[in-house]
Amino acid sequence: PPLTTCGPTKAEVDLTAFRDNVKAFKNIAVDSDSRLMAVIKTNAYGHGVVPIGHAAIEAGADRLGVTTVEEGALLRENGIDVPIHILSTIMPAQATDAVTYDLTVSVSSSELAEAIHAAAVSQEKTAPVHLKLDTGLHRFGIAPEYAREFCRSCYHLSGLFWEGIYTHFSSADEGLWETTEKQFSLFMDTVLDLNECGYNFPIRHAGASTIAIERRDMHLDMIRTGVALFGYPPEVRQQGMVPLKPVMALKSRILHVRTLPPNSSVGYGGNYVTSGYEKLAIVPVGHGDGYKRALSNKGEVLVRGKRAAIAGEISLDQMIINVTHISDVQEEDEVVLIGCQGGDTISAREIAEKVDSIVDEVLASLMERVNRVYK
Ligand code: PLP
Repeated sequence: PPLTTCGPTKAEVDLTAFRDNVKAFKNIAVDSDSRLMAVIKTNAYGHGVVPIGHAAIEAGADRLGVTTVEEGALLRENGIDVPIHILSTIMPAQATDAVTYDLTVSVSSSELAEAIHAAAVSQEKTAPVHLKLDTGLHRFGIAPEYAREFCRSCYHLSGLFWEGIYTHFSSADEGLWETTEKQFSLFMDTVLDLNECGYNFPIRHAGASTIAIERRDMHLDMIRTGVALFGYPPEVRQQGMVPLKPVMALKSRILHVRTLPPNSSVGYGGNYVTSGYEKLAIVPVGHGDGYKRALSNKGEVLVRGKRAAIAGEISLDQMIINVTHISDVQEEDEVVLIGCQGGDTISAREIAEKVDSIVDEVLASLMERVNRVYK
């Protein structure tokens, strides 16, 4: 039988905030005559790829971007019919699945181009593909000096429609404009050269969230926004440039409260020791939920509108917090790990900065067992 109760821990996903963020970028895209791809890879940065995919389209996204064939297929199985791009590369053995699910694959090898062509011919389809150029990230993509040769061998394959060409910058989020401008010029020169050789690509694209916000001159025919759609532009300096609302709040409840005498060690390894009588509470969230263990003895949560510090090592399923200074704390009190309570807010960015990480990792790490509640 279905369970009749929900556990205390949940990630609240505010779809209205998400749609508003998408609309903000859609307006920017429309202003610069571009399309908007909502990048919802990695389970929509932890927010849930299917509900987020639907919300993105409702709010005006033209296309979706993911990194795996599995995520693309899941979106198709859930009724999404806009173009879905695979932004990573795939193995030639996955070409048949990609074509079956009408996914737009990024191509940067002749083996993959040929495999997609063969799959498309056998399914009597023409598969849209985008050529990926490596302009300096050196992750994957055709090196510009080999682009002509690549096109000479693959552009004519009848099962393929070369709908687009793109690159991904290495250092735009860090604001390294000289590097980014060089990469952009290399991209544009290569595209021009290919065009002159008769290889045309209707959709040219290069920019993710940072470029979408800061460099309209690099928007080209499409912008690909990811993390900013979830309320966090990649860099602090961009805050306020586009009105964005955080989409996720992570909440739980206190399961147990106890007072320990001075000099009591707390948690695995005993590296937190009470300095006096301390009131400690147990919260059922641990690194098994994707909450960073590096926040042990460092992180804070909100209880009754006040900050409570994490005491000791975070374990797989629980953490212990110090609530000595907060009056009337009781079992089942709400604990906010990410989000607002009272007048205070703990953002995913605050957490990322504490553990020397980035917002993408903090959000996308959230495990499946955390119940997503959509509102
Ligand atoms: N485009 C590509 C090719 C990506 O790999 C990513 C994410 O890493 C994005 C766009 C979205 O980037 P951002 O989250 O900075 O908007």
